[in-house]
Amino acid sequence: MSSTPNSTTASDMEAVEETEVDDDATGECEEFTPEKLAKMCSICGGKCCKYYTVLLEDPEDAEDFDELRWFLAHGSNYIYIDDGEWHLNVEARCKFLQDDGRCSMYEYRPQVCRDFGHEDECEFEGSYDFDRVFKTIGEIEAYAREVLPPEELAKLPMFPEGCAPPE
Ligand code: SF4
Ligand code: SF4
Repeated sequence: MSSTPNSTTASDMEAVEETEVDDDATGECEEFTPEKLAKMCSICGGKCCKYYTVLLEDPEDAEDFDELRWFLAHGSNYIYIDDGEWHLNVEARCKFLQDDGRCSMYEYRPQVCRDFGHEDECEFEGSYDFDRVFKTIGEIEAYAREVLPPEELAKLPMFPEGCAPPE
């Protein structure tokens, strides 16, 4: 998933470090105890509850890249490649995120939300480091120019090179 810069600090981490981590919970990665996670979420303000991501097909032709241009024309959308997979990130605050950073449907929250309670997913201490990020139409058009053959590029209704509007 993705992310905006994290505003938590070393002192924020100190505020939660005394709470134990349950490292037997998953077998593969550490799961925070509910007490520790509650502290962290309230400090971080629900960072992972303010966007969602959609897995995309790898773009292969002009039609695929035109769809990516369309995604990037909307709001704060951006596209990223992570471990070779393409994703769309949509900034959208969850309806169940309370002002105190807690979840009002915690007991019934979706599985993807539960996965953020693990050390390798939670963004409390930092944002993800993606392979590549495209935030503007100009950026995805530049990438299309790198990878598409001329016959496909000719089908793409792109701005003239270097003329895509700043966003
Ligand atoms: S799970 Fe992690 S990133 Fe998500 S709100 Fe809690 S502390 Fe923040
Ligand atoms: S359902 Fe709860 S945990 Fe999941 S995104 Fe919404 S507020 Fe966050």
